[in-house]
Amino acid sequence: MQRERIADNVFYFQSDLYAQVTAGAIAGPNWAVVIDTLAVPEETIQIRDFIEQELNLPVRYVINTHYHADHSWGSCFFPNATVIAHTLCRNKLATQGQSSLIEARKQNPAFRRVRIVPPHLTFDESYLILRVGKKTLSMFPLPGPCDDNIGILVEEDRVLFAGDAFMPLPYIVGGNIDDLTNSLKKISKMGLENIVPGHGDIVLRGEIDGYIKDNQAYLSAIRKAVRKAARRKYPMDILNEIGVEECGKSRVLIGGLASELHHRNLKALYFQLYGEVPKLNPGDDDEDYWEDDEEVD
Ligand SMILES: [Zn+2]
Repeated sequence: MQRERIADNVFYFQSDLYAQVTAGAIAGPNWAVVIDTLAVPEETIQIRDFIEQELNLPVRYVINTHYHADHSWGSCFFPNATVIAHTLCRNKLATQGQSSLIEARKQNPAFRRVRIVPPHLTFDESYLILRVGKKTLSMFPLPGPCDDNIGILVEEDRVLFAGDAFMPLPYIVGGNIDDLTNSLKKISKMGLENIVPGHGDIVLRGEIDGYIKDNQAYLSAIRKAVRKAARRKYPMDILNEIGVEECGKSRVLIGGLASELHHRNLKALYFQLYGEVPKLNPGDDDEDYWEDDEEVD
């Protein structure tokens, strides 16, 4: 796990084990807040040890930016904390969390240590403010990658924890491309020093505009690709051929998962625009793209 200090009492963590997923912590004089947890118990426990043993603080709150397993399943390692999230995040974890966890345990026994914690404190339309020492954390909806995604702004430092609304490769499976476009526009107007994306490295002030433009260009490119595919009898054949690099993004992003996530995006966008699963030529092998597990991204 990587650890970095972004501003006074504001920390960033990045997984070495899965998809460069990130987390954060804000330390106050008497207690700390954790923003997201990492994909496997071992790394979340490293975050806890850092806060409890090195900073010598208890964790009073855990904020889940959204319900995906790699961001939210570590809440159980902070049993004395109040967990905060969007109301839809609580709904997802309360309804689908347990069955996803049972599946995950079959793949990786490390998940036997995990318990799903449906968030205790939730909000939806508006925003929520949490004060930690001299820092003000404002939480607000930032949908796109999924309906329940929220952003957390550390107002004094202009640092935004964006959840999966900000990623080296935008991801819209289970979310909505128009919502994501709007969230990117909103972020571009916030006057930020740093952004912590849901996956990948910290984005610095001078890089933010370019990063947003690149992501908007990618979203336009996949819209175009999906429209082109829709003109064919078997759109899936075309979608399978359109690579991530053709849409302007490198395949090495997100720990090498970019190509796979890109193909899921294309199929999900097709479904969003046309209300049906893209047809594959019956002569081709079905690659089973719809069997993916959206929980773990
Ligand atoms: Zn994610």
